Amino acid sequence: MSKSDTNQMQKIVAWSKRRGFVFPGSEIYGGLANSWDFGPLGAQLKRNIRDLWWQNFVVGRDDILGLDGGILMNPRVWEASGHLAGFTDPLIDCKKCNARFRIDHIIESKLKNHEKIKQDIKKIGESSNDIDEVESVKFIKEYKIAANFSTEVKDFLWYCRRQFDLYSKHPDDNKFNTFLINIFSIPCNECGAQKWSEARDFNLMFKTFIGPVDDQDNKVYLRPETAQSMFVNFKNILDSTRVSLPFGLAQQGKAFRNEITPGNFIFRVLEFEQMEIEYFIQPTDWEKYFKMWEEAMSSWLDMLGIKRESWSIREHGASELSHYSKRTIDFEYNFPFGTKELYGLAYRTDFDLRNHEQFSGQNLHYQNPVSAESFIPHVIEPTFGVERSVLAVICDAFEVVTGGRGEASRQEEEVVLRFDRKIAPVKVAIFPLIKKELLIKAGREVLAGLRNQFKFMANFVIAYDEAGSIGRRYRRQDEIGTPYCVTVDFETLDDQAVTVRDRDTMKQERVKIAELGEWLKEKYR
Ligand code: ATP
Repeated sequence: MSKSDTNQMQKIVAWSKRRGFVFPGSEIYGGLANSWDFGPLGAQLKRNIRDLWWQNFVVGRDDILGLDGGILMNPRVWEASGHLAGFTDPLIDCKKCNARFRIDHIIESKLKNHEKIKQDIKKIGESSNDIDEVESVKFIKEYKIAANFSTEVKDFLWYCRRQFDLYSKHPDDNKFNTFLINIFSIPCNECGAQKWSEARDFNLMFKTFIGPVDDQDNKVYLRPETAQSMFVNFKNILDSTRVSLPFGLAQQGKAFRNEITPGNFIFRVLEFEQMEIEYFIQPTDWEKYFKMWEEAMSSWLDMLGIKRESWSIREHGASELSHYSKRTIDFEYNFPFGTKELYGLAYRTDFDLRNHEQFSGQNLHYQNPVSAESFIPHVIEPTFGVERSVLAVICDAFEVVTGGRGEASRQEEEVVLRFDRKIAPVKVAIFPLIKKELLIKAGREVLAGLRNQFKFMANFVIAYDEAGSIGRRYRRQDEIGTPYCVTVDFETLDDQAVTVRDRDTMKQERVKIAELGEWLKEKYR
């Protein structure tokens, strides 16, 4: 991260706390690592994003139905989905100071910085024609943990394997990684010792127990993704509705992952919300619907007001694809701390339904109503993280104006959040020009009138502020991204009109109070 990017991120974190968007979790007790609470404006922003998503992908379409499944599910679900066996990170402990690390992360950072190794990697690059692509992919698949490494490091590991015939000596992923950490004499990041335990897989699912006894029979998991209840309820949906292919199920809710390397503010947290869709199709149609979802997800980013140049699509390479996926793309956002996954889109074949059919013994086939053909539908899965959406929206809208916004400004810096109107937490703010009883009364009447007109428009938050100079009140609203401010002044008492100021252009317009509701409805249409 460059200095200015670090600076930008620090400003965003400080602003989030100052203006009540995101607070550090359990702060008065010294906090809890990587936990965050959403303050009044953050909670509203999150809700606006969730509701817009639900409106756009569920309410506004004929082919998608909503679902609200539980966080706790029968543990067999996670056996069938592969999470019990495969949802792991490779960990290693320092035997001296007991610090725990992701072994692939330490090896990766060491290999990338090692000059000699870099030269070797370069040599491989230059003679890349010699690299047998199939052989290389096979190797990486054999070392499934190595799939977490960057291409540069994967190439190097492949090179090692061929040069030194390491595979026959270290057939197990963790043994191979332990071997690497030892031959490169990689020290502990915390204490500098080189005394490592054996690497081992760490499951990312949080465990808990049902009932008073903490024994294996009562063990359950907090779901690591919302997707599975949509597969588990597939039969209930077929039996209780009249859907036919293609159709989707959509769900929003909490997911939990015991991430070893959380961080970057709310980017990677232990407890987060997902918005996921499982779109069931005929197997032969997968390419058509994959494209449809790629377009729908791109339009969603436009709808959030995220600039086109801030995000890109990254195709997963063969070695990176999950075992069940035939094609996956990531929508990546250019965060100040790097370009990282915002959302994912995966073609999951019939992997999930087929496994649940096998594990549950229930028939999860779909019967074509016309041809009577019976088969397991395939699935396209668009998945969206709520916290990452909030963070991307904030990063995209956050602007620091040096020297202040107006010509008369005496501020060194002013912050303006250029949120899209649809998701701005506060839609309009009402100010009496000064704190005089007549103006306060008129201001309160405008507020009550608008609240009444907009009472059926969910999330239409109207703020009222009479404290401080008018310039200061504009700045306060700019800082939280309120698109319009309405000022009631002495003229209002005569002409029954108010001044409306636009956040982005800072232009002011006189609008009759009687027409203000319609004027705003037009803007929020
Ligand atoms: P990553 O590679 O960043 O760990 P992932 O590929 O494991 O993400 P998925 O399993 O595809 O993520 O989860 C779907 C979405 O859920 C992600 O695109 C992201 O928006 C969100 N998400 C996943 N893990 C976290 C987390 N720990 N904190 C916040 N959001 C998350």
